[in-house]
Amino acid sequence: MAASYKLAVIIKSPSNDNELILVKQAPPPKFDDEEYDSYVDSHLWDLPSAQLLLLQGQQSNSQFQIQDLESCSHKIDLNTLDFALALNQVLAQVGFGETSGAQWKFWKLVEEPDFGPGIPVHTVYITGKLGPDDGILKEHCKWMSDQSCQKCFLDVKPKSDRIGPLVVLGPLQNLVHSDKLIIPPNLHSQEYPPGIIIIPMESRTAKPYRTTNLVVFASGGSHDSCGDHSFVTHGDALIIDPGCRSELHDELRDVVAALPRKLVVFVTHHHHDHVDGLSAVQKSNPDASLLAHDDTMRRIRKDGLSLSHTPVSGAEEICIGGQRLRVISAPGHTDGHMALLHLNTHSLIVGDHCVGQGSAVLDISSGGNMNDYFHTTYRFMDLSPHTLIPMHGRTNLWPKHLLCEYLKNRRNRESSILKAIEDGAETLFDIVANVYSNVDRSLWFHAASNVRLHVDHLAYQDKLPKGYSLENFNCSCDAFAGNIGKL
Ligand SMILES: [Zn+2]
Ligand SMILES: [Zn+2]
Repeated sequence: MAASYKLAVIIKSPSNDNELILVKQAPPPKFDDEEYDSYVDSHLWDLPSAQLLLLQGQQSNSQFQIQDLESCSHKIDLNTLDFALALNQVLAQVGFGETSGAQWKFWKLVEEPDFGPGIPVHTVYITGKLGPDDGILKEHCKWMSDQSCQKCFLDVKPKSDRIGPLVVLGPLQNLVHSDKLIIPPNLHSQEYPPGIIIIPMESRTAKPYRTTNLVVFASGGSHDSCGDHSFVTHGDALIIDPGCRSELHDELRDVVAALPRKLVVFVTHHHHDHVDGLSAVQKSNPDASLLAHDDTMRRIRKDGLSLSHTPVSGAEEICIGGQRLRVISAPGHTDGHMALLHLNTHSLIVGDHCVGQGSAVLDISSGGNMNDYFHTTYRFMDLSPHTLIPMHGRTNLWPKHLLCEYLKNRRNRESSILKAIEDGAETLFDIVANVYSNVDRSLWFHAASNVRLHVDHLAYQDKLPKGYSLENFNCSCDAFAGNIGKL
């Protein structure tokens, strides 16, 4: 499968083998709008890194000797990648000149699972030693010991500094549990933050995605460390949204069979790409208990599903092997939609409220609601999560920025809908034809439910022009399919 590559460099100090250089990562560009720029994610520190491009023509890596590159037993010959360019970029990032005579050594290659829709980015780790004689460390860089990096995961506060995935999947790999979990060879997983294992599995989801992230917690701790909090349930392992296709049910059963028996299954909402694997989970472990909102449960209860069900509506806490998770009410995508906050790492598992890239869709036929969606988005921001874990696509490292982007895009869309109405568009068809005039007509049907949700939201905010008939608009919704058919 096609992939792109990234170089991550572990630069150790010649005087202290325990310390490595971390770089404060640049956040995404600001919005130039105080409303959104006032929400700031905490600092994120990670290894210095750069993209690895293919060597072109006569280029070679002769400027740097990297030992053991050929020892990497991967499909790609690493000697075809431009390490000289990437390493020079990394040295410039940290403030060391390119003349430094460090010894570089290949350490390992970490393959990213296929989260889609783009190609995976694999990381090549190399190590070397550099010290004060090689240059002056730049302001946004610092030396940090393995132990202090680990401490960042022991005592996570909402606004505290964060340690990025390159450190966790590289030098801190002793913190991860996924090595101990039996995962079938045709599935790939990623564990970041430590304790949260994500396995993208093919599902009946909507384009451009092909997979649903199965999230697994198997911390191996004990109940006792949860103290005397009152929990809605306890377990030794937790899985979230088993939504894979039936072709992968054998693999899902294997994953479940390798987990402790006392298993909790959490379902964010009822869509089939989130629950298709429930029957396989039940077969593998009929004693597992299911946690979901009543509205979700009502829609998925079907013949043969006999797992015991505990209803949740938000604010309940779950204890999994000593780790605490809080259920967060998150309506908007559907009415029964729920998120989970992992308190130990302050990571927020957001269901379909957000996706890895692009915008999330609201389901008008299952209580999707724009006003709820806005409220949930602000609720998420108030939690100051360290990472957002969507069920489709990659984990997001800039949660507040992403949530603000969603707010901004929805508001822009809503103002163009209001403008179309003010300019005389009355029916659903008129509004869609006006606002989505430069969008392919095959997508209009889908756009129509978005427009209906925005018109409801405009009405709720009392923003519709006087004299605009909501009744006529609602009647026109039924005629919409007919209008589309005539095109
Ligand atoms: Zn969904
Ligand atoms: Zn989904």
